[in-house]
Amino acid sequence: MSSRTTKRATTVTGLIITVLLLAGCAGERPPVKKVLVIGIDGVRPDVLAEVPTPAIDALISEGAFSGRVITQAQTISGPGWSSMLTGVWPEKHGVTSNNFTGNNYALYPDFLTRLELIDGEFSTFAVVDWAPLGSEASGGPLLSDTIDVKLDFDGDQLGYQEGDNRSVAAAVRFLEHQDPDAAFVYIGYPDVAAHDNGGRSQEYYQSIENADLHVGRLVAALRNRPTYEREDWLILVSTDHGHRDGGGHGGDSPEERTVFFLASGLSVTQGTLPRDVNIVDVAITALAHLGIAIDPTWHLDGRVSGLEAAN
Ligand SMILES: [Zn+2]
Repeated sequence: MSSRTTKRATTVTGLIITVLLLAGCAGERPPVKKVLVIGIDGVRPDVLAEVPTPAIDALISEGAFSGRVITQAQTISGPGWSSMLTGVWPEKHGVTSNNFTGNNYALYPDFLTRLELIDGEFSTFAVVDWAPLGSEASGGPLLSDTIDVKLDFDGDQLGYQEGDNRSVAAAVRFLEHQDPDAAFVYIGYPDVAAHDNGGRSQEYYQSIENADLHVGRLVAALRNRPTYEREDWLILVSTDHGHRDGGGHGGDSPEERTVFFLASGLSVTQGTLPRDVNIVDVAITALAHLGIAIDPTWHLDGRVSGLEAAN
C-alpha cells in the first residue's frame, strides 16, 4: 500500500515535471522563420537616398544595407529579375534580354519554386504585375506554377501605378490573413516613371516615394499578423538595375549598374554587409533563413548576406 502510494506520487510528480518541461519548451520555442522579398524595378540608390522613404529607412535601421552594389547582369529587367530570384547569373539561367525564351529555369528555378521542390510543405506566395514574371508572356514565367499562390496583374493594361496598387493590396490581404513561409512582391512603376520622364525627374522621385508607401503597407501587414510575435521575418528589398539621368537602361554606366541590397529582421546583423554583396544573394539568403542547406551541386552564384553567423 505504502509502496504503491509512493510510486503513484512519483508518477504524478514525473507527470508534473514533464508538463512543466513541455510548457517551458513551448515558451522558449525559437520563432518561426519566414521571408518576404520585395522587388522594386529600376531604383537608383542615389535617388533612393534623396527621396523621403520612412518605411525603407526603418528597415535599414533594423537591418543591413548597401547602396553600392554593382550588378553583374545586363542592366535589363529580364536578366536582372532572373538573377535575383534564381541566385545565378545570366550565363546559367540563360536570360539576357526581356525575351525569356530559352531560359534554363528547369535547372535554376526561382527561390520559391526551389523551396517547393525541396519540401512541398512550404507555403509560397508571389504577386507581380509585369507579365513575363508570372505568365507565359515573352517566354516566361520566371516564377513557376509550382508556387502555391501566384497572382498576376497586367501592368501594361492597367498602368503600373494601378497594377502595383492591386498587387500590394492583394499581398497585404494574403500576408495578414494567410500563413506563407516565403513571399515575393514586385513593384513596377518606378521603372516606367524613369523611362517616361527621366531618372532625375519629379515623377521618378514621386514613384519611389510611392513605392516606399507600398513597402510600409507590406511591413504593416506582417506586424498585423496574430502570430507576428512568434515569427522571425526576414525582409529583403532590392532592384534589378538603375537608370540613366535621361531615363533608360541596358548599358554599363554607373547609373544603370548601381543597385541596392537591403536585409532587415531579427536575424540580420545590423549594418554589416560583405563588400561584394549582389543581387544573386537574395535567393540564397532567403533559402538560408528558412533553414535550407545550400547544396553545392545547385551551382548557385550568390551567397548568404546579412544574416547572423548562427543562422
Ligand atoms: Zn527593370
